[in-house]
Amino acid sequence: KKVLITGGTGFVGQHLTQLLVDNGFEISILSRSKRKNTPAVSYYKWDLETQYIDNKAVLEADYIIHLAGENIAGGRWTESRKKTIIASRVEPVELIKSVLAANGKMVEAFISASGVGYYGAITDAKICKESTDPENDFLGTTCQLWEAAADAMHLNANRIVKIRTGLVLGKNDGFLKKMLPPFKWGIGSPLGSGKQYMPWIHIDDLCAMYLLALQKPEMEGAYNAAIQDSTTNKIFSKTLAAIIGYKMWFPAVPAFVLRLLLGKIAVIVLEGRRVSASKVEKLGFRFKYINLDSAIRSCL
Ligand code: NDP
Repeated sequence: KKVLITGGTGFVGQHLTQLLVDNGFEISILSRSKRKNTPAVSYYKWDLETQYIDNKAVLEADYIIHLAGENIAGGRWTESRKKTIIASRVEPVELIKSVLAANGKMVEAFISASGVGYYGAITDAKICKESTDPENDFLGTTCQLWEAAADAMHLNANRIVKIRTGLVLGKNDGFLKKMLPPFKWGIGSPLGSGKQYMPWIHIDDLCAMYLLALQKPEMEGAYNAAIQDSTTNKIFSKTLAAIIGYKMWFPAVPAFVLRLLLGKIAVIVLEGRRVSASKVEKLGFRFKYINLDSAIRSCL
């Protein structure tokens, strides 16, 4: 079967491509730049500004996985970056839908990334289920628009799955890449109050969830993709410091310093929420990494 992955060149996409190839899927990737095909992966070009898309990529697909999107933590949230963050997630879906609709084609499933930011910042220990109401702050609104675009594919996809992703732990990329340097330099410490919850997931488990979404016809709707535990920023920082082998000197980086340094984007590290993983576990999914220490060690 053929799987088309938008943004398949990124951190999650590269790992997922490898897992799907190992499981016998043929992969096509939609990218803004043309790349060299390999025996297992074909690259197709698209350009959201000119609304160009190589129709062949869409028309040959049995499944579509939508990962493309401007990096949310890639720079200050100026008004223009905020627009790009939303547009780069919503417009690709509309472009793909127009190709499917014009050709009367259905795919077996349309599987879209989303984020646990859907639930907004929750300071208490409340655990967010997939049925919990969304929040209307910037990340919450982004996730709602992103998921609404995915839901609008219902005339062209037998199933729609939305993977509300937590902080992804992987080698040389993602969240850990940003967290590690201060700890390696010996100045790492909790951020802000340190009490904010950090719903994390190992990259291997996240990719296994996407594979499950391809393979399980019962999997439909939104699913949280994060470990259901009570890791706070303080626990995360302590675990990371212990693994690297130094004792934290600083009690915490004050929230106002982070706001000065990062602007509004500081909410990503200063605020959090806990999420439930029971919906995907009821489908038989088992997380390989449930212990933070071993998850981090496997990434170093
Ligand atoms: P990356 O930033 O590594 O990759 C995303 C890909 O999207 C890029 O490789 C790029 O592909 C494409 N892209 C980037 N900017 C744009 C743009 N402006 N317009 C169109 N395409 C663009 O993301 P991840 O792999 O880390 O994440 C995949 C998805 O999962 C994203 O949507 C992300 O928001 C979501 N997610 C990730 C989390 C994480 O911790 N990593 C947490 C929560 C959600 P190309 O250059 O080939 O066009």
